[in-house]
Amino acid sequence: MQFLNYLFSYLSNIRLHGINRCLVLSILYAGHITQPFFFTRTNKQTQIQAGPLYDTVRVLLKTVPHIDQHTDQHADQHVVLISTTGECLQVCDTNGKKVIKAPTIDIQVKKGILYVNGKKNRQSKLHITSLSGHICIDGKSYDGYLSCMQQHNELLIINEVPLEEYICSVLHTESWPGWPLEVNKVFAITSRTYVISMMMQAQKAERLYHVHNSNRHQTYQGVHDKKILKDAVKQTEGIILTHDNKPIIAMFDSCCGGVIPAHIHDVEFNHAPYLARTYPCTHCKRCWIYNWQVTLTADELHERLQRQVKKLKPIHGLHVTKRDKAGLVQQVLVSNGRKKVHLDGKQLYSCLKEIKSFCYTIEKEKDTFTLSGRGYGHHLGLCQWGAREMVRDGWDYRRILKFYYPGTKCTRCA
Ligand SMILES: [Zn+2]
Repeated sequence: MQFLNYLFSYLSNIRLHGINRCLVLSILYAGHITQPFFFTRTNKQTQIQAGPLYDTVRVLLKTVPHIDQHTDQHADQHVVLISTTGECLQVCDTNGKKVIKAPTIDIQVKKGILYVNGKKNRQSKLHITSLSGHICIDGKSYDGYLSCMQQHNELLIINEVPLEEYICSVLHTESWPGWPLEVNKVFAITSRTYVISMMMQAQKAERLYHVHNSNRHQTYQGVHDKKILKDAVKQTEGIILTHDNKPIIAMFDSCCGGVIPAHIHDVEFNHAPYLARTYPCTHCKRCWIYNWQVTLTADELHERLQRQVKKLKPIHGLHVTKRDKAGLVQQVLVSNGRKKVHLDGKQLYSCLKEIKSFCYTIEKEKDTFTLSGRGYGHHLGLCQWGAREMVRDGWDYRRILKFYYPGTKCTRCA
């Protein structure tokens, strides 16, 4: 856990978007994983189970509070409406006994009792399947089936979806569908590696679901028809990245800016040596996202920094006073004549939303300050834009993953 605490400290203020943020934070949370990883080996004829199966992902779609008949003014907010793109839904109890068949289902809980289409039901858990087509909830269609169960005065709606269908869906929101097939294969493998980690963590914690459907984990919005993403998932089916027989912490950011991760000061790499890449990525250099620049007047800077420094005088100078070996800013000096204030890199970063990474220089001209930087994100693991350029240069997904996660291997988990 020490390594994960280090990472958390390093990353806690990093601005990330989409999967990057959720991936990082969730994987940190998944750091409780200590059990060895078991594999299910497959060939065309037989399937040999060598450990727990990770073939179905349990995704929490929503939680619905129980209805309180005496005080609640918005009873309809406590009702879950489920429909289908086909013709009929079927509700069963945990023994597979049919409870009801209908084209639409509404479920709610009153005083601890489940009601299905207005009828009282003694079961605490139900499965809902669509007999044809996809099951629908809140305007989205899903593969697999829904489980409804109660926990802590809430009704949980969980989509139980095959692993590969889940990855395919996640790529639609977390990947770049317009990018080449080969780079989407890279993303499919990192996404799969991530969710397997989460499934193991949920199993250990005895949680009723594996992941949320939001960017708290990976954004998941059900089925889509993007063929390139389906192909990327199909052609990497069951493959994850492992190190020492365990799924890795498959971190990635948008653009690494050419920073060498092994030189980053705040990260202890002992437990994830595959993140300590000792050579730079130069592939993202020609991408628009590689460089960023922001210019602020002294007054604007003063206004922003007041959030961190009380009674801050008007600013005359802003200088980087400490960098780590990777070139990331660790400390800056804010000055006003004789009065000087030191801020750490994270404090300045948290005040200025235009800063995209910790790798930047500062220049002053008259009463303006220009910060010029490289990269977007935390500089660890896979560089998404670099991977895209590698594909354009003819690299395949295995070579890309080996480049960004040295010492790991692609392993088939199902
Ligand atoms: Zn890069």
